[in-house]
Amino acid sequence: MRHKSRSVAVFPGSFDPITNGHIDIVDRALKVFDEVIISILVNAEKKPLFSAEERLGLIRDAFRGEQRVRGDTFSGLLVDYAMRVGASVIIRGLRAISDFEYEFQMALMNRRLNPRIETVFLMAPEGFSYLSSRLVKEVFDLGGDVRGLVPPVVERRLREKRQSAAKRGRGRKD
Ligand code: ADP
Repeated sequence: MRHKSRSVAVFPGSFDPITNGHIDIVDRALKVFDEVIISILVNAEKKPLFSAEERLGLIRDAFRGEQRVRGDTFSGLLVDYAMRVGASVIIRGLRAISDFEYEFQMALMNRRLNPRIETVFLMAPEGFSYLSSRLVKEVFDLGGDVRGLVPPVVERRLREKRQSAAKRGRGRKD
């Protein structure tokens, strides 16, 4: 009998923070692949709300008990990273046509860089097609309710961040 090797996929992104849209994509990917590595791109240019360690912690909390999902960080070329961790697939989520052009460019560039690694697109459900980490942060900042859009642990951490920012603000005035 031919031995089928485990299929490993990387799901790269900023995940600042992870949302229910990301989680939905991972759940879909688990139907197709044996293991999914959610990989945080550590980008020195971007100023994230959550540090890479905090984002990793949130991913681990969100997938606690799910043996086939793990979190990781990487920098440099995604295809090189994928090779290092033994992944043959890159997963990306598609929300709307607006995602398409950028994703198309990236997928073709990655194919040129390493034709052995395939990019697979999974579609967000309608209910999450407007959801992004950026929008969650904006809505939360303005006092809006983000429950149902992010895992409970993320909502908690957003509130803690706001409280500690408010405390720092008060400290400065006193
Ligand atoms: P990036 O900065 O690479 O876009 P993100 O963390 O914003 O990183 O997104 C990572 C991946 O998840 C991307 O493929 C993005 O299209 C996908 N994604 C983000 N939000 C959603 C959503 N609501 N539904 C489906 N896919 C999503």
